[in-house]
Amino acid sequence: MGNLQPLIDGFRRFQQQLYRDNERLAAKLVKGQNPKTLVIACSDSRVDPALLTGCSPGDIFTVRNVANLVPPYESDNAYHGVSAALEYAVCYLEVKDIIVLGHSGCGGISGLLSAADGELVGEFVGRWVDIAAAARERALARVGADNENELNRVCEQEAILTSLDNLRTFPWLSKRVDAGSLQLHGWYFEIENGQLRGYHAETDSFKVLVEEYSP
Ligand SMILES: [Zn+2]
Repeated sequence: MGNLQPLIDGFRRFQQQLYRDNERLAAKLVKGQNPKTLVIACSDSRVDPALLTGCSPGDIFTVRNVANLVPPYESDNAYHGVSAALEYAVCYLEVKDIIVLGHSGCGGISGLLSAADGELVGEFVGRWVDIAAAARERALARVGADNENELNRVCEQEAILTSLDNLRTFPWLSKRVDAGSLQLHGWYFEIENGQLRGYHAETDSFKVLVEEYSP
């Protein structure tokens, strides 16, 4: 089994915790899922949303992709994985909150920025992260190309806002937001200091969500 042995061992612990120690939850999960929150997170191995938020099976419906991006609503015959997950979460599970969870040191956003001269990175990644091209332009206008760390940070946060804007282009989603039955949130996890920030529309900034924490 080699590399996979830690995963098998981990599953054994999970199995015991759920099926032996938490029979009530296991029985509830058999009946189906009823999550109230959809999280759109990066595929990055360091930012698992369930681990970050201490969630149990059944708590959050999750979409993960490179750079936690939401494409705009498009009605065509292409394969729309993110849009399908959105539709299922919003129209069938009727989640109450959607969190776009970005993070520092995002390789996808780094790829987007390095492609600023018009070239695309890789066969698929470049085309995908180009969804956040407008975020790159806003970040470059605010920070400039010289301050690389700050440019990455601002672009990661601007890309979250682009995804929140794109969420609103889905008519059945926007309708629920306008009716007050669905709330949209932008979160940003800082790996370097273990801080979580949330987008605050009034001040147009990402504010610390867990005030009392100090590393
Ligand atoms: Zn990332």
